[in-house]
Amino acid sequence: MLALVRKRIFMLSYFHEAPSSSFPIWEIDIPDIPSRSCLYSLAPLGLGSPFVESLTSYICRLAYEHHIHTGTMLQHIVAPLISKHYIAGDQSRNISSFLRYATPINGNGVMASDWVNILALLTARNDLSQLTMLAVANAVSHRNLFQPTRQWCPICYSEWQRQNAPIYEPLFWSISGVNICLEHHRLLEKRCPHCLSHLPWLAWRSRPGYCSGCGRWLGNIGNANQIEEKDIYIAEMTGNFLAYISSASISVSRDVFVKSLSELISITTEGNIAAFARCLELPKVTLWELVQGRFPPSLPFLFRLCLQFRLSLLQLLVGLDDTLPDSYSPKKSVIKEDLRRFFDRAKVRQALEEILSDQQHEPVSM
Ligand SMILES: [Zn+2]
Ligand SMILES: [Zn+2]
Repeated sequence: MLALVRKRIFMLSYFHEAPSSSFPIWEIDIPDIPSRSCLYSLAPLGLGSPFVESLTSYICRLAYEHHIHTGTMLQHIVAPLISKHYIAGDQSRNISSFLRYATPINGNGVMASDWVNILALLTARNDLSQLTMLAVANAVSHRNLFQPTRQWCPICYSEWQRQNAPIYEPLFWSISGVNICLEHHRLLEKRCPHCLSHLPWLAWRSRPGYCSGCGRWLGNIGNANQIEEKDIYIAEMTGNFLAYISSASISVSRDVFVKSLSELISITTEGNIAAFARCLELPKVTLWELVQGRFPPSLPFLFRLCLQFRLSLLQLLVGLDDTLPDSYSPKKSVIKEDLRRFFDRAKVRQALEEILSDQQHEPVSM
């Protein structure tokens, strides 16, 4: 008891005698706390580069970071927030059948914007639209934009694993018409080497680098295979374009393409839309409507224009110059051949000589 009294006296005298400046002044107001996200605010990979990640890859990595299957995360956390008929209901059967046709999540339509908005809400990130083709929502048709099933570079997977880097799927691999790896210049794989399955871009057990069917690793050192110069050309210009549209929140206008196409027709066929359409084996009405900006061009059509006239997507759609491989040279211009076909010198000469040698009729009035 005496000890306790002595201790209290000591404490009182200590606090009484201590100078006030010895103690920090604590701020007791509650600070502004940033809003919390429901799911991890996982950073997307490769923004601003040709290897920018796809949104489907981001979804799979997000589920993996939470140690749950992609399907489980989508069924219990994402689907309830997307009140759309294509994913309505909480039955796993509905989700599984939806996932088989979920490629447009990476695209430039309503489904992509729905998923970007919901995932932005769940992760508190504002850069997820850059993992899709939403930047060209107005400039490129949503048709034929993507490969229907997964394709990948096994060497990229192996190298990332060896470097202990994150394993993911670049948006580049999903683009229709792209069939080689930009880094290793080899054909992308389309079937699991173990179970020989074609794989969807999203599945219940999707995980970048692994087969969603048999679950085995898809990376290997790979064999060299034959590729064409046009494949490199398409890969490089697509990579440059994806780097551009994923560098910031960008919206590409259709007007630039309309202007580029009109200039191209003016230069090559002196404005003759019919001749230009014949050269590209396109209905004249379709080309006329494209020139009028009535609907956006498809990606396969843009690739044809680029290959034929040695242009790039950046030049056609954005009006920017692009560095492309010199090795690719388009086949000799069919445009010039087509024009020659309309002006057949031999036939014209023959017709004129017949008129001159005709003594019975008067010359044709000019
Ligand atoms: Zn590769
Ligand atoms: Zn497999």
